[in-house]
Amino acid sequence: YTKQYGKNNYTIYSEELDQETAYKLTLEQDLKSAVKNQEFTLHYQPIIDLKTGNINAMEALIRWNHPELGLIPPDQFIPISEESGQIVSIGKWVLETACAQNKKWQQEGYPPFRICVNISTIQLQHPNFVQTLKAVLEDKELESKWLELEVTESILLEDTQTLKESLINLKTLGVSMSIDDFGTGYTSLSYLRNFSFDRVKIDRSFIQDIAAGLNGKAITSTIISLANKLKMGVVAEGIEDSTQLTYLTQENCDDGQGYYFSRPLPAEMHILSKFPENIIQSIQGKASPESE
Ligand code: C2E
Ligand code: MG
Ligand code: MG
Ligand code: MG
Repeated sequence: YTKQYGKNNYTIYSEELDQETAYKLTLEQDLKSAVKNQEFTLHYQPIIDLKTGNINAMEALIRWNHPELGLIPPDQFIPISEESGQIVSIGKWVLETACAQNKKWQQEGYPPFRICVNISTIQLQHPNFVQTLKAVLEDKELESKWLELEVTESILLEDTQTLKESLINLKTLGVSMSIDDFGTGYTSLSYLRNFSFDRVKIDRSFIQDIAAGLNGKAITSTIISLANKLKMGVVAEGIEDSTQLTYLTQENCDDGQGYYFSRPLPAEMHILSKFPENIIQSIQGKASPESE
């Protein structure tokens, strides 16, 4: 391909650019009908209490099953939907679906846990966000304490009045708030003083670095002790092996999430009746549940 057509670099570059632009435009166009055509689903990944093995929460992660292109990961279409504003209606669908599913689990008699929903900064800054959220909780009859919103550090840069009011109103409403991918964004610790978050989620990249040696361990344990001192909970993301788990347990990390416990799965594929027995086994290093 490149040999045939690529007589100069500029041609290749602009062709690639055009392809990428075309792909994005296709996705943006197709996103318009995706909610209506029921092309989205949510997968759920448990967040485990590292002391007891209990499920403390489930994180809802969106999947787009595109009619022609197949499964498209959120990292590819969420940014596009943020640019176009479509994230507002997609995000509402996510909230409704996730809250309804959590209510369903409760009605099925499982010990209750929080449902964690990723919220884009764009969504959170929408003036109707809190109102919409309140309506969803009422409609799905889910108590606010069973909902947690995950936002990234970029939210902390948006020092707007709407945002401040929203955060206060959410607190009053009783939902929890956590900072996702902690440590990768524009962290300024002073922001943590101004807003009160319930939890931080240590970014997966630091957990991956634990085995690599000193830096991964130092950063991870520093975030854990920072969270402890600020009276916030702390979750390790992306735990994939027992070395990571052992270190995190030793450092008193509260909760953990990752393929080691379970991949994100459709709701009906989680064998909740077997939790926490199989998780305790995996914490003790005997088996890795739900993974092949
Ligand atoms: P996130 O919120 O940080 O979610 C964690 C991501 O790490 C998920 O990717 C999850 O599948 C993956 N993951 C979990 N455990 C492991 C592990 O042990 N190893 C590895 N390698 N990966 C692991 P996913 O589902 O592709 O989502 C990517 C990102 O897309 C999310 O990152 C979140 O920022 C965004 N996203 C997903 N669903 C939504 C949504 O409903 N709304 C919004 N606004 N964003 C979403
Ligand atoms: Mg998240
Ligand atoms: Mg994350
Ligand atoms: Mg992420």
